[in-house]
Parts: sequence; C-alpha cells; structure tokens
Amino acid sequence: MRYQTVNSQLTAYITLICTSGVLNLYLGLNVFFRRHKYTNIAQFFIVYTASITIYCFASAFGLMATTLEDMKFWTIIQYIGMPVSSPLGLLFIMKYLGFKLSKKWYIALLSIPFVSWVMVATNDLHHFHYRVFEIDPILGAPFIYQVIGPWYMIHGVFTFTCMFVAFFLVLSHWRETAKEYRPQLFSLLLGQLIPMLTAFLYLIGFTPPGIDPVPMVLWLSSLLYLWAINSSRLFSLMPIAKDAIFNSINDGVMVLDESYRIIEFNQSCKRMFPPLTKSMFGMDFGEVWYDLSGAPFPSKLENTAITEELEIVMDHEKRIYQVSTSSLEHANNRKGLLLIFTDITELKRLQVKLERQAYYDELTQIYNRRAFFQKCVPDFEAAKKVSSPFTIILMDIDYFKKVNDTFGHHVGDQLLVHVVDVCRAQLKEGMLFARYGGEEFVLALKGCTLSAGVAFANHLRKTIEAETLITTEGVISVTFSSGVAELSNETNETLYQLLNKADKALYAAKREGRNQVQVYGG
Ligand code: GH3
Ligand code: MG
Ligand code: MG
Repeated sequence: MRYQTVNSQLTAYITLICTSGVLNLYLGLNVFFRRHKYTNIAQFFIVYTASITIYCFASAFGLMATTLEDMKFWTIIQYIGMPVSSPLGLLFIMKYLGFKLSKKWYIALLSIPFVSWVMVATNDLHHFHYRVFEIDPILGAPFIYQVIGPWYMIHGVFTFTCMFVAFFLVLSHWRETAKEYRPQLFSLLLGQLIPMLTAFLYLIGFTPPGIDPVPMVLWLSSLLYLWAINSSRLFSLMPIAKDAIFNSINDGVMVLDESYRIIEFNQSCKRMFPPLTKSMFGMDFGEVWYDLSGAPFPSKLENTAITEELEIVMDHEKRIYQVSTSSLEHANNRKGLLLIFTDITELKRLQVKLERQAYYDELTQIYNRRAFFQKCVPDFEAAKKVSSPFTIILMDIDYFKKVNDTFGHHVGDQLLVHVVDVCRAQLKEGMLFARYGGEEFVLALKGCTLSAGVAFANHLRKTIEAETLITTEGVISVTFSSGVAELSNETNETLYQLLNKADKALYAAKREGRNQVQVYGG
C-alpha cells in the first residue's frame, strides 16, 4: 500500500518535471527558430531555457533510477544545467534591463556553476559538495539521503543570490515602466519568484524529503514566459532597454503631452534640475518650471522648433542651457512636445574667455587695438552724422626703451601697467581708452572739442609725471608725449585720417622735446 502511494507520488513528480522539461524545450526552440526576428537578448533566453531543460530531464531520469550509481550519474547530468540556470537567468534579465555587460561579468557569473559541476562530478573523491549522498534508507531509491558539504553551501548561496538580484532588478523598474509593458515585467518577476520560493521551501523542509521540487514548478515559469512572448511581445519590444538609452543621453530630455503636462524626463534632466521628481508627472510644465527656476519659461510652447538660451541658478551655481523644442507625434496621433536641454555653461565660459583674449590686452587688461576700432567706429560715424565734436588723443611714453634697457623688460611691463592704472583713474564716462601699440595708447573722446581734449591730455600728462612707480629696482618717474586731433566736419574724414592727424601731432610733441601735448595743425 505504502509502496503504491510512493509510486503514484513519484509518477506525479516525474510527470510534473517532464512537463517543465517539455515546456522549456518548446520555449527554447520557439525562440531559437525566431531568433532573427528578436532583439539580441533572445540568445540569452535560449541558453537559459536550454540549461533548465537539461536540469528538468536529468532530474526526471534521476527519479527513475534504481541504483545509487544511476542516481549519481543523473545528478551529474542535472548539474550541467541546474547551477548555471540562475546566473543565466540573471544575465538575461540584466540584458533585458539594458545593462552593458563586460566579459568579466560573464566569467564571474559562470565560473561558480562550472566549479559546482566539477565538484559534483568528482564528489566521491573529496565529498566537498555532498558529505553524504546515499539512497534514503527508509524511502529507498530514487529518494536521496544527503548531507550537504561546504561547496553545496556556496553553490546554494550563489544560486539564491542570482535569483534574488534578478527579481529585485525587475522589481525596481516596475514604477517607471509604462502600463502596457507591465505584463512583461510581471511574468519575469513571477518567473524568478516561483523557483526561488520553491527552493526556499525545500531548504527549510516544507517539501517532500529526498527530492528537489524546483523542476516540478518550473513549468509555471515557462508558461508565464510563453505568455509574455506572445501577449506583450517580450524580445520584440523592450521598453526598459529603450529607457536605458533614453537615460544615457547627455542632454536633458523632457516629454510633454498635448496639454503641456510632463509625462517623462530622463536622468540627465533630473541631474540638471534636482528638484524634478516623478511625482510631477501629469503636472503643468509652466508651473513646474516656475518652481524649478523661479521664473516663467522664456518662450511660448505653442511655437514649435524654438531654440533659446537660458540661465538658471541651481544649488547656488549659475548654469546656462540651450533649450530646443520639437513637436512629437504620439502613437495614438495626439501631439506632444519634446524639450531638449543642453548644458552650454562650459561652452559659454570658454566663449567669454576667448572674447576677452581677443579684445583685451593681456598685460594691461584694457582694450586692444582691434577692440578700439570695433568700439570707436560706430561712435565716430554717429558723431560725424550729427556734426558733434570728436577728439582723439594719442600718447607715447617718452624714452621707454631706456627703462627696458636700464631696469629690464619686466620693469618696463610694470611701468606700462602703472601708466594704464594712473590714466584709468582719471577717465570719465564715455571715454574710450585702449592700448594702441607697444607703449602707445589712444583715447577717443566723443562730444569733446579740441581744446577740451588738449586740457584733458595735459591733465593726464601732469598726473603721470607726478605719480612715480616704486619698484625693486628703484623709483621710476616717467612722462609721455601726446598728439591731439579733432574730427573736421568740413572734409569727409575717416577715423584713420583722424588718427593719422593725431599721430602727426604726437610726432611734433616728440620733436619739440617730449613731455608735452601738441595739436594737429597747431
Ligand atoms: P620715444 O620717447 O621716442 O618714444 O622713445 P622710446 O624709447 O619710447 O622709443 P620707442 O617708442 O621707439 O620704443 C618703444 C619700446 O617699447 C620698444 C619696445 O622694446 C618697448 N616695448 C613695446 N612693447 C613693450 C612691452 O609690452 N613691454 C616692455 N617692457 N617693453 C615694450
Ligand atoms: Mg613708441
Ligand atoms: Mg616711446
């Protein structure tokens, strides 16, 4: 009677396990023959189902064994598939979730199952995996009486960890996955949970002794996978892998629906605007933007394809973004809007630096000759147009070469900075001051007559003369000569001609003995 019960139980176990094996085989072959239609994660799934198929059939044959030798043999075969199935499941799920996996990952995850197999195959020599592996003295073959060894522990912990990690990885993506793709996640979750729970119940002694119950429930996981493949097109559409791409874009991307409510943003966007949270989904973009930046969005969202630059202070740091928008056609044909934020802060900083280098003199930090012309021409033209006075002062330091020769070039540099500082302190609003050449400077005075220009040039000359420069080489006093010229309204004079006049006056000042101001035509 007891024998009969055990026997019918065994038949039920074997039937269940074979069902799992057949379903897995079907699943694997199904995906294998259609693999060219699927994304590359299908390959992982094929190997995963193959390992489970081996596990199931070897387990079924093991239950038909009558001798210890046969039981050991089928256990070894079973271990070709079983230990590797959980890391393969994990790899498959990591691929599905868009993880980029290096070779090291594969080696690390697949080496332990290989060792487990070697351990089982050679267990009689060392008893590291099973301390005891015998026919159960009460139940008889094919039931096993086993005492686990240290490697069994490692193998067990590893198997559980892989299933756990796979399960939680899927779970952590639940919230952010669109509803229509949740069946995929649901079947992956349960597909992992079912063997994990069964193995756990087996470990704590809640299942019949002497038999591994996991293959008996694997048909359930297989059915779930089959459903996922057919119903929600697992392998053809992978929302989460797409998510990974979306999140790996360096630009911040925000998706709005047709009423300009936020429906999605990527991780770069979150990095740019840390207060942004998923709880803001469904909220009006304008309001959210105001909360984030403290100002209204600078352009109307109705105007598609706009490109704007905007400055935002986040965490006490000013950042500059280029925002471009483009309209979006959703699957159901409703219009939405895509906002793309590109961080151009560094680019702008570089631009400012380059502009500074292009327009400012490096030594004295006043405008250079190029900047002088760019700024002076419009003022000059404007003055000419309305016949308003316009005066130029050209200044050249006297005997500057001597300073260089006596004290060295570095003191010459110091002196140039000194002269600029003294002059700058005297300048009034609207005066354009620039380094014209080596130790020559130019002043453009709009609205200023010749006599006022001469007065100002003399004022500068006297100030410089009085302000000595104290250096390590001694106290240096310096003078300069000036040529002043005023725009003539009678001839159609150019700025170059006016500068030429001032240069002639400067030459005269030098000729007359230096440290003086001369006027063109004076
Ligand atoms: P002058 O009274 O006739 O103007 O005599 P000068 O010695 O000033 O003669 P000049 O204008 O011909 O000489 C200008 C000198 O200024 C020549 C050059 O070596 C020097 N110089 C030009 N740029 C710089 C500079 O950036 N730093 C230094 N230290 N010297 C400079
Ligand atoms: Mg000179
Ligand atoms: Mg000189």
